[in-house]
Amino acid sequence: APKRIPKKTHRIDPHLLSKNAVKVTHTLQQAGYEAFIVGGAVRDLVLGIGPKDFDVATNATPDQVQRLFRKARLIGRRFQIVHVTFFGKAHPEIIEVSTFRALLDNAGDHVAESGRILRDNVWGSQGEDAARRDFTINAMYYDPSTETVLDYHGGMSDMQKKTLRMIGDPAKRYREDPIRMLRAIRFAAKTGFTLDSATAAPISELSALIHDVPAARLFDEILKLLMSGYSWAAIQCLREAGLHHGLLPLLDHILDSKESSKTANDFVKLALANTDQRIQSGKSISAGFLFATLLWPELLKNWQNNIASGMSNIPALHAAMDDTIATQSSGMTIQRRFESDMREIWSMQPRFEKRVGRYPYRLIESPRFRAGYDFMLLRCATGEQKASLGEWWTSFISADPAGQDGLMASAK
Ligand code: ATP
Ligand code: MG
Repeated sequence: APKRIPKKTHRIDPHLLSKNAVKVTHTLQQAGYEAFIVGGAVRDLVLGIGPKDFDVATNATPDQVQRLFRKARLIGRRFQIVHVTFFGKAHPEIIEVSTFRALLDNAGDHVAESGRILRDNVWGSQGEDAARRDFTINAMYYDPSTETVLDYHGGMSDMQKKTLRMIGDPAKRYREDPIRMLRAIRFAAKTGFTLDSATAAPISELSALIHDVPAARLFDEILKLLMSGYSWAAIQCLREAGLHHGLLPLLDHILDSKESSKTANDFVKLALANTDQRIQSGKSISAGFLFATLLWPELLKNWQNNIASGMSNIPALHAAMDDTIATQSSGMTIQRRFESDMREIWSMQPRFEKRVGRYPYRLIESPRFRAGYDFMLLRCATGEQKASLGEWWTSFISADPAGQDGLMASAK
């Protein structure tokens, strides 16, 4: 039986709740079902952080859920969940509603019994749903109407001890799904919690299993890690756990200090610190920008080699961009949508040095100017470009037309 944790212990501030998530649990409860906010949202609420998204778990089936809401879509084939969408003043909010799921073993039995081939949605009890989650702090259920947390695996006491503990036998759980090793690292970096020793112990031994994970899923997880707001800390943890090899070729370059020069390291370190800061202060960051920075030292090297072998500046840059991106695909392809962003940011860089004629006036009109400019400032901050170049552009952007003409004269 789960522990029932009262408000005076969990201290969840109702103001941090999404009104829409509460609407969803109320609607389900009104219709006679059980419904809870679950998973990472509860963890963040107990930490006093406003969750970035809310998941709801219920004993209603996806069909039953869908009938209760106007904007509800069934998602997924293997395990159907329901996305309930609310249109607010700013962005639409999607509440993900999933039905309590059975453990894998029971799912197998069910398939055999029913005789149906791969019947995917196998519902279970709330207790089973809790047991198939990863960490104890991710397996708590919050009922907004009673303001009670149901805790099946001692998540609340681990919260108090600042411990990240895998539910069940850690080695078995990592074998079932190696992505959990990366999740362990990501949450440890994000919460500042310590991995429980039994949870940490098998990771270095099992680290090679990470390569069994389909590339797209691995890429998504690494992206989450890099965009967590704690990427620098997370990368240090990856290194300590021996988990970084072959994740992304670019991470190998960054993390193997033998391979990468000090300036390259500094550049990436600053870029990640800058990314973390932006994310922590609620600003957005594009994945394209992030990858453009992580690959920049490599690109710079290729660019310079091409120039040394006789190519002229701009063709050398474009050839280097192709090579740099191609090298990445030996490990994991950087998705197309990021690739075009990266190319735009990179190819803009030489244009910042061309401060003659109409060039600067045209450059600030380009749609991705802001990203290219931020990137150029990063290059100045690491000393790869003169600080005065960044300062010049910063003045140029905010100057009136007369001021801009004056700056052009001073640049010559
Ligand atoms: P965040 O969204 O902040 O990254 P989260 O804990 O909400 O963290 P999600 O990926 O949104 O992470 O997953 C929601 C919940 O689903 C988790 O809290 C956990 O209970 C469960 N879960 C997700 N991935 C796994 C996994 N690989 N193995 C077991 N349980 C998982
Ligand atoms: Mg989540």
